[in-house]
Amino acid sequence: MNRIEERSLQSKVLATAAAVALAMVLGALDYFTGRDWAISAFYLLPTCLAAWMAGRWAGFAVGALCTGAWFFSDVFNGATYQSPLIPAWNATMLFIFFLVVVWLLTAFQHSHYHLEQTVEQRTAALRTEIEERKRLEQAKLQAERLGVVGAMAAQVAHEIRNPLGSISLNLDLIGEELHAFANSSGSSTAECDVLLREMRSQVFRIRQVLQEYLRFARMPKSERAAVSLPAFLEEKLNFVQPLLDQKHVDLSRTIDPNLPPVQVDAEQLWEAILNLISNALDAMPDGGNLTVSAQRHGAEALVSISDNGRGMTEEEARHLFVPFFTTKSDGTGLGLAYTQRVVNEHGGKINCATARGKGSTFSIQLPLAVAA
Ligand code: ADP
Ligand code: MG
Repeated sequence: MNRIEERSLQSKVLATAAAVALAMVLGALDYFTGRDWAISAFYLLPTCLAAWMAGRWAGFAVGALCTGAWFFSDVFNGATYQSPLIPAWNATMLFIFFLVVVWLLTAFQHSHYHLEQTVEQRTAALRTEIEERKRLEQAKLQAERLGVVGAMAAQVAHEIRNPLGSISLNLDLIGEELHAFANSSGSSTAECDVLLREMRSQVFRIRQVLQEYLRFARMPKSERAAVSLPAFLEEKLNFVQPLLDQKHVDLSRTIDPNLPPVQVDAEQLWEAILNLISNALDAMPDGGNLTVSAQRHGAEALVSISDNGRGMTEEEARHLFVPFFTTKSDGTGLGLAYTQRVVNEHGGKINCATARGKGSTFSIQLPLAVAA
């Protein structure tokens, strides 16, 4: 029993005790005053008090007590009736009257309570609905604003991309000119070569970042086809094997050869998986183990990419998939957001399990093409 229930029981007991005491006082008064005062209507007071405060059965009980008090005071204070049955008959009528009053009173109280509850529930539901609407409106407004900003950013990125192309072309031309000039004059181009290389790598980096922004902002509609993941993954992983060797990363593949096909846009899916592999490599700067697995899980294919790299802090894990969240000095924070979008648009889910210092596992669930 909790505190509120305890309190309510206490007040019920107190009210019933008060009603009983009042009934006794009225009984005594009735006895001593006899027919002179005729106070039987006052018995309604304790009866109604008990019914209102302590419920129907307490009301009946006090009503019965009042009837008894009236009956005994009437019989013992010396009143005379033509028939000895008359006081019993009067008492019965009084008791029935009390019963009806208690019944009506408690029924009224009951319906009043229900009405109150319904109003409270409806008000709470209305309040939640209003809050939800407000939240949705705000989210819509925010999405519209973000949409405009995103479109602007994509346009700017697009505008920068072309001049960057000609800058890198011109850098190549300058390099060639420089070499021709150096050959004819017999001087060295070593210092200029270093500068040119640096400029080229910066231009390359800007182009890559722009590429990621544009890819995220203008994701094309996916063109799906049934893809057999085992063959697809084997082929693509062979393609990245040299990069893994270079980074001293051992690759383990646990790919179920009987995995049924999935209906996906192969290029988008590979970009999504490649983002995860690239993050895994970043998390293992001194090399490590990368595991790519693909298994059947009910009506879904489960593809997971695990590394035994640095893992993530709780704070980092909480911000995963949020666009522009990055802990890397040269990161864009768009890789995971893009991956999640691709997976979601394919009707799948992506999750991450990570332990600081031990590694991370990203799992992608994709519905099988034909749920067999
Ligand atoms: P970026 O790679 O440009 O930083 P991502 O969206 O790909 O952007 O990743 C966001 C952040 O999530 C990373 O900066 C990194 O902190 C964290 N992260 C993602 N994958 C891993 C991983 N396998 N191990 C540790 N941290 C990771
Ligand atoms: Mg990344």
